[in-house]
Amino acid sequence: MAADKQWTKLTYTLNTGDKIPAVGLGTWQSQPNQVREAVKVALRKGYRHIDTALAYGNEAEVGQGIKDSGVPRDQIWITTKLDNTWHHIVEDGINSSLKDLGVDYVDLYLMHWPSSTDPNDTTKHLPDWNFVKTWAEMQKLPASGRVKNIGVSNFGIKNLEILLNDPSCKTVPAVNQIELHPNCPSPKLFDYCKQKGIHCTAYSCLGSTDSPLYKDQTVLKMAEAKGLSVAHILLLWGLQRGTSVIPKSVTPSRIESNFELDGKSLTDEEMTQLNSLKDRFKVCTDGWLPVKVFFGDDE
Ligand code: NDP
Repeated sequence: MAADKQWTKLTYTLNTGDKIPAVGLGTWQSQPNQVREAVKVALRKGYRHIDTALAYGNEAEVGQGIKDSGVPRDQIWITTKLDNTWHHIVEDGINSSLKDLGVDYVDLYLMHWPSSTDPNDTTKHLPDWNFVKTWAEMQKLPASGRVKNIGVSNFGIKNLEILLNDPSCKTVPAVNQIELHPNCPSPKLFDYCKQKGIHCTAYSCLGSTDSPLYKDQTVLKMAEAKGLSVAHILLLWGLQRGTSVIPKSVTPSRIESNFELDGKSLTDEEMTQLNSLKDRFKVCTDGWLPVKVFFGDDE
């Protein structure tokens, strides 16, 4: 089954009926002067999904890369995210992103973190505000056509329950973008999202910058035996679980090679081996936020 998969053409159908391309390009930490070229190289290679965020400070260059590629806007899935200090001004947040990206709409708008941070003092939570109120504002966006789908990111089960059980919640998030790689598989959260009809996008799907997964003996041996790169193994693991993956690179050869996935697959036994790695680590924790957002329910 998986062996003949055309992963680069695959889409997952969201609870809105829209189809998100399974493989996208991540852009966190992609520097100015690099990200414009990276986006162009990716789109020319065939990527049709770009992930950015207001907080990455690179939406304008991402937008330029999209234009440079010559790929028509309607063939590209663009995800961006509402920054924590903009929770109370959702309209301003989306308008800023659209302006910088140079587009009329985004395909997916995510609440980046369930933390409404005070813009005047980022060590504090905004008084009289919370992520449920933010979501209530986000729910209004699709009607304007500027946002096709809305979703969340970094939501564990506890916060999803708070959101979904609130009477103001009329729209189930289409996506929860969360950290997922073989050292952070989060099976409970992943199953919970599936049950609720929420698609998961795997971020830091290669284990992020200086990933220890490149030194993991199980992964290394598997890659060698199959004649694949470590990145291929990690991306196939994510895809075969049913998540979309958004590997980041600013290196043209890696951007291209990461997309060469069609016809490649892992056996059930290889999936089990990867699911059983002993080491655990999380790249994105919540220590830098004014509120705790992970309660062990994201594992
Ligand atoms: P990734 O897991 O995608 O790893 C990126 C790192 O891997 C970079 O250092 C890159 O180097 C390197 N790399 C890429 N391809 C290869 C390869 N084939 N061989 C060796 N090294 C490689 O990390 P990210 O943390 O960036 O996650 C991916 C994306 O997910 C982000 O860019 C962002 O869009 C999103 N994200 C969302 C978050 C959220 O809170 N919602 C949090 C974190 C990420 P180089 O670029 O130098 O080639």
